[in-house]
Amino acid sequence: MKRNVTLEEISDGRLYNANDMVKADCHGCQGCSKCCQGMGNSIILDPYDVYRLTTGLQKTMQELLEKEVELNVVDGVILPNLKMSGAKESCAFLNEQGRCSIHSLRPGICRLFPLGRYYENGSFKYFLQTGECTAVHSKVKVSKWIDTPNLTQNMEFTNRWHYMMNEAEELVQSSEDDAFRKNLNLFILNTFYLAPYDGSRDFYEQFEERCKIYEAIVS
Ligand code: SF4
Ligand code: SF4
Repeated sequence: MKRNVTLEEISDGRLYNANDMVKADCHGCQGCSKCCQGMGNSIILDPYDVYRLTTGLQKTMQELLEKEVELNVVDGVILPNLKMSGAKESCAFLNEQGRCSIHSLRPGICRLFPLGRYYENGSFKYFLQTGECTAVHSKVKVSKWIDTPNLTQNMEFTNRWHYMMNEAEELVQSSEDDAFRKNLNLFILNTFYLAPYDGSRDFYEQFEERCKIYEAIVS
Protein backbone atom coordinates (compact mmCIF):
# COMPACT_ATOMS: atom_id res chain seq x y z
CA MET A 1 0.00 0.00 0.00
CA LYS A 2 1.46 3.34 -1.05
CA ARG A 3 1.43 6.29 1.36
CA ASN A 4 1.38 9.85 0.09
CA VAL A 5 3.69 11.27 2.74
CA THR A 6 7.31 12.31 2.69
CA LEU A 7 9.94 10.25 4.43
CA GLU A 8 10.81 13.25 6.61
CA GLU A 9 7.22 13.42 7.91
CA ILE A 10 7.09 9.86 9.23
CA SER A 11 10.67 8.82 9.92
CA ASP A 12 13.96 9.85 11.46
CA GLY A 13 15.04 10.81 7.92
CA ARG A 14 17.50 7.93 7.56
CA LEU A 15 17.48 4.88 5.30
CA TYR A 16 18.85 1.59 6.61
CA ASN A 17 20.35 -1.57 5.09
CA ALA A 18 19.95 -5.05 6.58
CA ASN A 19 23.31 -4.83 8.36
CA ASP A 20 22.70 -1.42 9.93
CA MET A 21 21.78 -0.84 13.55
CA VAL A 22 18.43 0.88 14.09
CA LYS A 23 16.59 2.06 17.20
CA ALA A 24 13.63 -0.31 16.72
CA ASP A 25 13.86 -2.91 19.49
CA CYS A 26 10.77 -2.54 21.71
CA HIS A 27 11.78 -5.39 24.08
CA GLY A 28 8.92 -7.82 23.48
CA CYS A 29 6.28 -5.07 23.47
CA GLN A 30 5.73 -5.53 27.25
CA GLY A 31 1.94 -5.79 27.21
CA CYS A 32 1.37 -3.41 24.31
CA SER A 33 -0.55 -4.70 21.27
CA LYS A 34 -1.27 -1.39 19.60
CA CYS A 35 -0.05 -2.38 16.15
CA CYS A 36 -2.17 -5.57 16.21
CA GLN A 37 -5.39 -3.55 16.49
CA GLY A 38 -7.13 -0.95 14.38
CA MET A 39 -4.77 -1.40 11.46
CA GLY A 40 -7.57 -1.41 8.85
CA ASN A 41 -6.46 -3.27 5.74
CA SER A 42 -2.83 -2.16 5.99
CA ILE A 43 -1.25 -5.53 6.91
CA ILE A 44 -1.16 -6.82 3.35
CA LEU A 45 0.06 -10.36 2.80
CA ASP A 46 2.55 -11.29 0.13
CA PRO A 47 2.85 -14.83 -1.28
CA TYR A 48 5.60 -15.75 1.21
CA ASP A 49 3.32 -14.75 4.10
CA VAL A 50 0.65 -17.03 2.68
CA TYR A 51 3.15 -19.88 2.24
CA ARG A 52 4.26 -19.45 5.85
CA LEU A 53 0.70 -19.22 7.25
CA THR A 54 -0.91 -22.00 5.21
CA THR A 55 1.88 -24.52 5.65
CA GLY A 56 2.59 -23.57 9.27
CA LEU A 57 -1.04 -23.61 10.41
CA GLN A 58 -2.04 -26.47 8.10
CA LYS A 59 -4.89 -24.37 6.76
CA THR A 60 -5.82 -23.54 3.20
CA MET A 61 -6.02 -19.94 2.09
CA GLN A 62 -9.78 -20.47 1.66
CA GLU A 63 -9.97 -21.47 5.35
CA LEU A 64 -7.96 -18.41 6.42
CA LEU A 65 -10.38 -16.25 4.44
CA GLU A 66 -13.22 -17.44 6.67
CA LYS A 67 -11.86 -15.59 9.70
CA GLU A 68 -8.28 -14.31 9.83
CA VAL A 69 -7.76 -12.88 6.36
CA GLU A 70 -9.86 -10.78 3.98
CA LEU A 71 -9.54 -9.48 0.44
CA ASN A 72 -9.42 -5.81 -0.47
CA VAL A 73 -8.67 -3.79 -3.57
CA VAL A 74 -5.35 -1.96 -3.22
CA ASP A 75 -4.60 0.53 -6.00
CA GLY A 76 -6.75 -1.53 -8.38
CA VAL A 77 -5.34 -4.96 -7.46
CA ILE A 78 -7.13 -7.45 -5.18
CA LEU A 79 -4.78 -8.48 -2.37
CA PRO A 80 -5.27 -10.28 0.97
CA ASN A 81 -4.68 -8.60 4.32
CA LEU A 82 -4.99 -9.57 7.98
CA LYS A 83 -8.57 -8.94 9.04
CA MET A 84 -9.25 -6.65 12.01
CA SER A 85 -12.52 -7.40 13.81
CA GLY A 86 -14.46 -7.11 17.07
CA ALA A 87 -14.95 -4.14 19.39
CA LYS A 88 -11.24 -3.36 19.37
CA GLU A 89 -10.72 -4.08 15.67
CA SER A 90 -8.15 -6.72 16.59
CA CYS A 91 -6.18 -9.14 14.47
CA ALA A 92 -7.67 -12.64 14.80
CA PHE A 93 -4.23 -13.95 15.79
CA LEU A 94 -4.01 -11.68 18.85
CA ASN A 95 -4.68 -13.84 21.91
CA GLU A 96 -6.42 -12.95 25.20
CA GLN A 97 -3.08 -12.10 26.78
CA GLY A 98 -2.52 -9.49 24.08
CA ARG A 99 0.24 -11.55 22.45
CA CYS A 100 0.63 -12.80 18.90
CA SER A 101 -0.49 -16.45 18.83
CA ILE A 102 1.47 -17.14 15.63
CA HIS A 103 4.70 -15.32 16.47
CA SER A 104 6.98 -17.60 14.44
CA LEU A 105 4.60 -17.44 11.45
CA ARG A 106 3.70 -13.74 11.63
CA PRO A 107 3.64 -11.88 8.31
CA GLY A 108 6.51 -9.78 7.02
CA ILE A 109 4.85 -6.43 7.84
CA CYS A 110 4.46 -7.53 11.49
CA ARG A 111 8.14 -8.54 11.57
CA LEU A 112 9.16 -5.13 10.28
CA PHE A 113 7.16 -2.86 12.57
CA PRO A 114 8.12 -0.10 13.48
CA LEU A 115 10.33 -0.29 10.39
CA GLY A 116 8.93 0.17 6.90
CA ARG A 117 10.27 -0.29 3.40
CA TYR A 118 11.17 2.60 1.12
CA TYR A 119 11.25 1.62 -2.55
CA GLU A 120 13.30 3.65 -5.01
CA ASN A 121 15.08 2.99 -8.33
CA GLY A 122 14.23 -0.71 -8.49
CA SER A 123 15.22 -1.65 -4.96
CA PHE A 124 14.36 -0.79 -1.35
CA LYS A 125 15.83 0.19 1.97
CA TYR A 126 14.32 0.26 5.42
CA PHE A 127 13.18 3.29 7.35
CA LEU A 128 12.16 3.80 10.97
CA GLN A 129 8.60 5.01 11.44
CA THR A 130 8.57 7.51 14.25
CA GLY A 131 5.29 8.24 16.01
CA GLU A 132 3.83 4.76 15.39
CA CYS A 133 5.26 2.77 18.29
CA THR A 134 5.40 4.50 21.66
CA ALA A 135 7.70 1.96 23.37
CA VAL A 136 11.19 2.92 24.48
CA HIS A 137 13.49 1.47 21.85
CA SER A 138 17.07 0.34 21.87
CA LYS A 139 19.33 -0.38 18.92
CA VAL A 140 19.14 -3.68 17.06
CA LYS A 141 20.56 -4.90 13.76
CA VAL A 142 17.89 -4.62 11.06
CA SER A 143 18.36 -8.25 9.94
CA LYS A 144 17.99 -9.51 13.53
CA TRP A 145 14.85 -7.45 14.02
CA ILE A 146 13.21 -8.79 10.85
CA ASP A 147 13.95 -12.36 11.96
CA THR A 148 13.50 -13.95 8.54
CA PRO A 149 15.53 -16.92 7.26
CA ASN A 150 17.59 -16.41 4.06
CA LEU A 151 17.04 -12.66 4.32
CA THR A 152 18.98 -11.81 1.15
CA GLN A 153 16.81 -14.18 -0.88
CA ASN A 154 13.72 -12.90 0.91
CA MET A 155 14.64 -9.30 0.09
CA GLU A 156 15.09 -10.20 -3.58
CA PHE A 157 11.66 -11.81 -3.57
CA THR A 158 10.08 -8.86 -1.73
CA ASN A 159 11.53 -6.41 -4.20
CA ARG A 160 10.47 -8.45 -7.20
CA TRP A 161 6.96 -8.88 -5.85
CA HIS A 162 6.64 -5.16 -5.14
CA TYR A 163 7.57 -4.17 -8.68
CA MET A 164 5.44 -6.95 -10.19
CA MET A 165 2.43 -5.64 -8.30
CA ASN A 166 3.29 -2.08 -9.37
CA GLU A 167 3.25 -3.28 -12.96
CA ALA A 168 -0.07 -5.07 -12.38
CA GLU A 169 -1.53 -1.87 -10.90
CA GLU A 170 -0.45 0.07 -13.97
CA LEU A 171 -1.94 -2.56 -16.28
CA VAL A 172 -5.24 -2.53 -14.41
CA GLN A 173 -5.43 1.24 -14.10
CA SER A 174 -4.53 1.93 -17.72
CA SER A 175 -7.06 -0.54 -19.14
CA GLU A 176 -10.67 0.33 -19.88
CA ASP A 177 -11.51 -3.31 -20.46
CA ASP A 178 -13.47 -4.56 -17.44
CA ALA A 179 -13.01 -8.21 -18.40
CA PHE A 180 -9.22 -7.78 -18.65
CA ARG A 181 -9.04 -6.08 -15.25
CA LYS A 182 -11.17 -8.77 -13.64
CA ASN A 183 -9.26 -11.64 -15.26
CA LEU A 184 -5.84 -10.23 -14.34
CA ASN A 185 -6.95 -9.82 -10.73
CA LEU A 186 -8.36 -13.35 -10.58
CA PHE A 187 -5.22 -14.72 -12.17
CA ILE A 188 -2.95 -13.04 -9.58
CA LEU A 189 -5.18 -14.18 -6.74
CA ASN A 190 -5.41 -17.76 -7.94
CA THR A 191 -1.78 -18.15 -9.01
CA PHE A 192 0.03 -16.55 -6.08
CA TYR A 193 -2.40 -16.90 -3.18
CA LEU A 194 -5.13 -19.51 -3.59
CA ALA A 195 -3.20 -22.31 -5.32
CA PRO A 196 -1.80 -24.31 -2.35
CA TYR A 197 1.93 -24.15 -1.59
CA ASP A 198 3.81 -27.33 -0.78
CA GLY A 199 5.36 -26.95 2.68
CA SER A 200 7.93 -29.67 1.95
CA ARG A 201 9.35 -27.60 -0.90
CA ASP A 202 11.28 -24.35 -0.95
CA PHE A 203 8.98 -21.33 -1.25
CA TYR A 204 11.19 -19.40 -3.65
CA GLU A 205 11.28 -22.29 -6.17
CA GLN A 206 7.48 -22.41 -6.15
CA PHE A 207 7.26 -18.63 -6.48
CA GLU A 208 9.62 -18.74 -9.47
CA GLU A 209 7.44 -21.37 -11.19
CA ARG A 210 4.37 -19.19 -10.67
CA CYS A 211 6.18 -16.08 -11.90
CA LYS A 212 6.98 -17.85 -15.18
CA ILE A 213 3.27 -18.55 -15.70
CA TYR A 214 2.41 -14.95 -14.79
CA GLU A 215 5.05 -13.46 -17.07
CA ALA A 216 3.89 -15.64 -19.98
CA ILE A 217 0.37 -14.23 -19.50
CA VAL A 218 1.20 -10.52 -19.11
CA SER A 219 4.05 -10.26 -21.63
S1 SF4 B 1 3.20 -0.46 19.01
FE1 SF4 B 1 5.36 -1.03 19.44
S2 SF4 B 1 5.36 -1.85 21.52
FE2 SF4 B 1 3.24 -1.80 20.83
S3 SF4 B 1 2.88 -3.86 19.98
FE3 SF4 B 1 3.52 -2.55 18.27
S4 SF4 B 1 5.76 -2.82 18.13
FE4 SF4 B 1 5.11 -3.57 20.16
S1 SF4 C 1 -0.16 -11.59 13.09
FE1 SF4 C 1 0.51 -11.33 15.19
S2 SF4 C 1 1.92 -9.59 15.13
FE2 SF4 C 1 0.72 -9.52 13.24
S3 SF4 C 1 -1.03 -8.18 13.67
FE3 SF4 C 1 -1.67 -10.27 14.10
S4 SF4 C 1 -1.32 -10.60 16.29
FE4 SF4 C 1 -0.14 -8.80 15.64
